[in-house]
Formats: sequence, structure tokens, C-alpha cells
Amino acid sequence: MNRFWSWLWRSTTEGETPYERALLATLLTLLGEYAFETHRRTRTETRNAFLQLSQRAETGELTEIVPFVQQQRRDEQQFVEGHLNDLRDLVWNLLGAIAKIAQEESDEDASLRQQIQKLSLQTQRPEALDIHTLRHTLQSITQVLEQREQRHRQTLQQLQGQLHHLMRELAQARRESTTDPLTGLYNRRAFEECLHHTVGLNRIFNYPATMMLLDIDHFKHLNDTFGHATGDEALKHVAEHIVRVCKRKSDFAARYGGEEFVVIMRETTLRDAQKIAHQLAEQIRRSPLPVPHGEPIRMTVSIGVSELQPNEEADAWFRRTDALLYQAKQTGRDRVVA
Ligand code: GH3
Ligand code: MG
Ligand code: MG
Repeated sequence: MNRFWSWLWRSTTEGETPYERALLATLLTLLGEYAFETHRRTRTETRNAFLQLSQRAETGELTEIVPFVQQQRRDEQQFVEGHLNDLRDLVWNLLGAIAKIAQEESDEDASLRQQIQKLSLQTQRPEALDIHTLRHTLQSITQVLEQREQRHRQTLQQLQGQLHHLMRELAQARRESTTDPLTGLYNRRAFEECLHHTVGLNRIFNYPATMMLLDIDHFKHLNDTFGHATGDEALKHVAEHIVRVCKRKSDFAARYGGEEFVVIMRETTLRDAQKIAHQLAEQIRRSPLPVPHGEPIRMTVSIGVSELQPNEEADAWFRRTDALLYQAKQTGRDRVVA
């Protein structure tokens, strides 16, 4: 931390290099991208706050960074610890309930055993059989059994309620951990999973699989000119087009990073994927982003498309597609390279 402060001091007084600024801006964007939800902010709010910090860092405004990151980390720690404690409580409750049942049963079993012994003694001497005592013993056995059943039902209901609640939270956490909150598409983590599954399945079934990597052209300029909120609208706009064009159930679309999107299309040949990519680029080009006061904003995208080769590793496939996207940028943007 001390080294950071001295760097911060030096850079604000002597001026840091553009490389350091860009590095800091990227780090802040990444911190926002993978932030936890906290009691203070939703994931989207945190992500936006980090993006704003990142943009300010690029222009040399650094003073808010440390207090903000410190507060966020502290909140995240609290949030995670809170959830762990909830989970711990639930496990203790479960254990407590089981222990209670075991204790009560063993007490009752002892009394039941006593009653049954009494009964059996009585049946050995039928001449001494007293119908009143017999009825009383049977009644108390029935009562013990009925009480036990009722208690079991109650405990089961209680535990079911807690378990249900926990399952819902887990399902929600699972959904949140695989979706991008801004666009509703899958996130990078889910994409990595899908990429590896696709490659694995391809080895077994050998069906064609294609990948499309899309990057918005000059997005930084759009953000800087119209503001960050409009930038976010542009990302949603592109995501909607992707969903509309890549509409097969097996198409898997994710936001890979800032303004980069990726689609994996199973059982789709390179020819078909190319057609889809051209269609997508065309649709985005033809539908400028509407803004409340002013001219709609024209947008274009660059796309790299490739088909998975036999025995190709997941990373190699992704790198190859990324190289095609790079080529699309280098040769003038607003194009598809396959
Ligand atoms: P190129 O045509 O070469 O792709 O240029 P570019 O400006 O699109 O690319 P660059 O990578 O330089 O800029 C991407 C910008 O996207 C930088 C960052 O501020 C912005 N950004 C990243 N994530 C988000 C986000 O979630 N929302 C908004 N509004 N902007 C974002
Ligand atoms: Mg980019
Ligand atoms: Mg871009």
C-alpha cells in the first residue's frame, strides 16, 4: 500500500505515463466486471461506478480510487461473511434438529419399552389381567406414537422450508454468476464453460461448430462523446440484435468483456455462420441507436468467424477467432473476416 501511495503521489505531482494510466483504467474496469453484490450496491451499480472511476483515471483524476476500492472490498468481505454465516446457521439448525429428535426418541423409547414390558408381564399371568390397566397402557403407547409422528411432521416441514429457501438462493446465485447483468446475455465465465463443452462434444460427435467474435467499432469514442449511460444502451442494443439474429436454441451468446461479444453456434457450418455474421453486421449498421434528444447514433461492428478444426484445443480455437477479429479491425473495421 505504501508503495502505491508513493506512486500515486509521484504520478499526481509529476504526471504518470500513459501506459500507467491505461493499466490503472483497465484494472478498475476489471474490478467492476467481477465485483460482488453488496448491501450498498447491486452488481450493475458497482460495475458502473468502477467504469466511471476508470474513465476518470484515464484523464488523471485519481483521488477517489483508493477510498472507493477500500469501501467496496470491505463491503464484499462483509457480504461474503454474512452469507457464510447464514449457511453455517442452517447447518447448525439441521444438526440441532437431528440431535433433538434422537434425544426425544431415546427417552420415549425407554418409556415405551417399559410399557411393553409391563404388558408382556401381564399377558404371562392372564388370571391377573386387569382390563383397565391394559387399556391405560395401550392408550399411553398410542399417545407416544402419535406425538412422535406429529413432531416429525413439524420438524420436517420446518427443515423443508429452510432448505427450499436455500435452494432458491443457490439457484439465483448460479443464474447471477453466469449472466451479464447489463445485457442479460451469458457472461465470460459461462462462455468458457460452453467453449470447453462444445470442444469436448465435438471430439465425440464430430458435428461442425462455429464461433463468432464481435467487437463494436470505436466504442470508446461513442462513450466519450455521448456518455457512459448511452454507451450502456449501445451494448444492450447490440445484444438485442445478436439475440434476434442468432435465434436457434443451441446458439450460445455471451458478453465476453467490455464491448466484445461471442457466439458459439453448434451444428452450424462456416458458410452458414458467415451468412449469420453478415446479417448481424448489416442489421446493426442499419439500425442506429435511438437517443432521447438528438440524432440516432450510427454504429458498426467487426466480426471474426471460424469453425472448430478436428482435434483443435479450446484456447487455440478462441485465439484463432480473435486473430480474425483483429484482422477485421486492421483492414478497416465494419466487416466480417472468416
Ligand atoms: P475499436 O474499434 O478498435 O474496437 O475501438 P474501441 O474504441 O471500440 O475499443 P477500445 O478497446 O479502445 O475501447 C473500449 C471502451 O469500452 C473502453 C471502455 O471505457 C469501454 N467500456 C468497457 N466496458 C464498458 C461498459 O460496460 N459500459 C460502457 N459504457 N463502456 C464500457
Ligand atoms: Mg474491444
Ligand atoms: Mg471496440
